Parts: sequence; structure tokens; C-alpha cells
Amino acid sequence: MNELDVRKKIIRLCQQMNASGLNQGSSGNISARHHDAMLITPSGIPYDRLLPEDIARLSLDADEGEWEGPCRPSSEWHFHHSILRARPDLNGIIHTHSMFATIVSMSRDFIPACHYMIAAFGGSTVRCAEYETFGTPELSASILLAMKDRSACLLANHGMVVGGRNLDNAMWAAVELETLARMYYHARLAGGMTVLPDDEMTRVLERFKTYGQVDKPAG
Ligand code: 13P
Ligand code: ZN
Repeated sequence: MNELDVRKKIIRLCQQMNASGLNQGSSGNISARHHDAMLITPSGIPYDRLLPEDIARLSLDADEGEWEGPCRPSSEWHFHHSILRARPDLNGIIHTHSMFATIVSMSRDFIPACHYMIAAFGGSTVRCAEYETFGTPELSASILLAMKDRSACLLANHGMVVGGRNLDNAMWAAVELETLARMYYHARLAGGMTVLPDDEMTRVLERFKTYGQVDKPAG
């Protein structure tokens, strides 16, 4: 995909995440790796007004938040930047204030293996990153820790962040995580749940390696 197509794709996904009810207003943000740069939504601009040139571009090599483009990048550029730098397996990052993930994040609780689909995020839990003020390097550090061996986490009193091998995969994961959080929230209200034991989660994680249309091995 060329850079213009990536910019258009980011805008389409932003509009889709609001139209589907996954996110609301101008909260949340989306970024993608494009070669040695990060393309990220600008801060505080309603998604239906976004133009491809409004997407900010930051070098992944530089530590400072210098950007190219007419609009200031998302206030959360720190954590998008840190994740893309630390995690070569992730190329698209989505942050939302989706309803149920955010409600669960308010109890600063991790999501346990209440459903086998938790394995889609790399383990038997989705952790909750410690609360830090939005937009800070401290929030970025707490997210990196919570995402160790995982492709997603909740952000205490804030929302969720998910990464994917590409933007479509990240959007799929964001919908899955919100669904999982909604199930977990309702199961708690309904009187509790049986959490899947570690040995079963080991089997599920093994099966996930060949779930879906995974790339065929070369040759
Ligand atoms: P931005 O509009 O700066 O991306 O901020 C939205 C947000 O979700 C902050 O956490
Ligand atoms: Zn946010």
C-alpha cells in the first residue's frame, strides 16, 4: 500500500469505529507503520472532517515528537510510537474509549480467561495498564508493560489499545476485545463465571497458531 492509501485507510477505519458504536466523538486514535515512519490521526479533529493530508507523520527513528503535516498528532503519539518501536510484530494500533472495555478498566481489573477467545490477544488474560495521565510517556511505559507477550491491554479509567499485524487485523481485534469485555461485564452481573484453567488455555493457544487464514509456510 502506498502512503496515500494508508492515510485513507486510517480515516476509513476511524469513521467505521464511530459509525459502528465502537468509539464515540473524537476520542480514540489510530496509527500505522509505514516503512520507517508512523502515520497517526491528528489530535481532536472529528473523524468525518479528516482529510488524508491531516494524518501526521513521525519518524520511528527519532525520540522527539517532531511531526510532518499541518495538524498536531494525537496526544497519544507517545504510546503508539513506543509500541511500534518495541513490537515489530504489530503494524497497526487502535485506541478506543469503547463502552465495555472502558467500564471494566474502571475497576482496574484484568480480563480473565472467561472465554477462549482471550487467546486472540496472546495469552490467558488481557491485562489492565496502570493508570497514568493521558498523553504522557508514563502512560506509554505502563502500556508497554501490560502488553508484554500480548497484543492488547485495557487502560485504567480510560479505554483499551490493540495492535495487529495490519490495520484490518487491529480493527478485528478491537471489536473482539470490546465483545469480550461486554461478555465479562455481563457475566459478572449475572453472578460470576468459571474461568478456563491454564492447561485448557495452553491447548487453545496452540490451536490459535493455525486459526483462520494464517500465512502458509514458504515453499
Ligand atoms: P487525541 O484526539 O489527541 O487523539 O486524543 C484522544 C484520546 O483518546 C486521548 O487519550
Ligand atoms: Zn484515550
